[in-house]
Amino acid sequence: LASRLRGFGTTVFAEMSALAVETGSLNLGQGFPDYPGPPEVLDIARAAIGTGADQYPPGPGIPELRTAVAEHQQRFQELGYDPGTEVLVTAGATEALAAAMLALLEPGDEVVLFEPIYDSYSASVAMAGGVVQPVPLHPPADGEGAWTFDEAELRAAVTPRTRVLLVNSPHNPTGTVLAAAELAVLAELATAHDLTVLTDEVYEHLVFDGARHVSLATLPGMRERTLVVSSAGKTFNVTGWKIGWVCGPAPLVAAVRTAKQFLTYVNGGPFQPAVADGLRLPDGYFAGIARDLQYRRDVLVAGLREAGLPVVSPQATYFATVDVRGVQPDGDGLAFCRELPRRAGLVAIPTVVFYTQEHAALGRHLVRFAFCKSDAVLAEAVERLRRLA
Ligand code: PMP
Ligand code: GLN
Repeated sequence: LASRLRGFGTTVFAEMSALAVETGSLNLGQGFPDYPGPPEVLDIARAAIGTGADQYPPGPGIPELRTAVAEHQQRFQELGYDPGTEVLVTAGATEALAAAMLALLEPGDEVVLFEPIYDSYSASVAMAGGVVQPVPLHPPADGEGAWTFDEAELRAAVTPRTRVLLVNSPHNPTGTVLAAAELAVLAELATAHDLTVLTDEVYEHLVFDGARHVSLATLPGMRERTLVVSSAGKTFNVTGWKIGWVCGPAPLVAAVRTAKQFLTYVNGGPFQPAVADGLRLPDGYFAGIARDLQYRRDVLVAGLREAGLPVVSPQATYFATVDVRGVQPDGDGLAFCRELPRRAGLVAIPTVVFYTQEHAALGRHLVRFAFCKSDAVLAEAVERLRRLA
């Protein structure tokens, strides 16, 4: 393994999903729904197989999907993008982020991001020869509300080598949605230091309790320096389709396209028309998936609390983060997760894997549970959680 990839072994998601299969446990680890997406969207993909859609789509994605992405950005964020030059279809958000890093970073350039961080970020930055500068998000002091960053810690992370600010809101794994005042701080900082901003918005529609996701690109001065990344996986329950996209000013999107051309060239032929259709579903669809998931959140959060696991009820995403110190005397979340199949027939993700070495202590006692599961699985999971008491 080349030195730039040392330390990046098997992803924790693969490891924990394998453990679930091996032990016959319920998998509340890896974030994927166990229920299907909207039937009309699935039907379009089925019908597209066996047609010209099986062959290479156009490099930037089929025009119909690029137009649908631009219309979706206009409808939900009032952001206007030219489908011809300002939208690129990618192999999931993962490729969009990796291609953006390859396109933007010179060796040694720094990327400021918030920790805990989604696991592909560090690897993508490393593969592009960059360096991460993590800024910790702190849990709410009273156990309710959102995780937040300390402005002084954020400012201290920016150096003359900082090239990119990478922001994930709604945030995996904490379920936090950045507030307007926090977005304003980020916008001011990006402008002052002339940073390119990458926003990972894959959970944009999975927001609860009437809260709304606001893209950082909508703030004054941000559109021209921001690449907005999202994907179909979470919005349409099709995490295996790997259809993602990037929107931004033409020169930045062209740079990402240059990298994407030589990573995968194109992807997901038959899925592209299906996702285009999904993005045009009425507002009620998008409100409906959030409402449905909010109900699942409430079921799991209640079960976790009953089992003696303090949990911050998340504002968004698929995930709830608990403190295991009450049920794991050494407070080690990784050890807790390794034993959880035996103790309770469940699998979860130790939050420590979302931290760099430097800040690992902040996540040692935390564990992430996914609630994007069917009623029967959630009910059984809540039942099994009682075994921890
Ligand atoms: N970003 C975040 C924050 C995620 O949680 C995930 C995983 N679902 C991704 C990116 C990857 O998205 P995709 O499957 O579209 O590559
Ligand atoms: N994003 C999902 C999660 O955080 C899984 C993605 C993956 O397996 N790479 O659980």
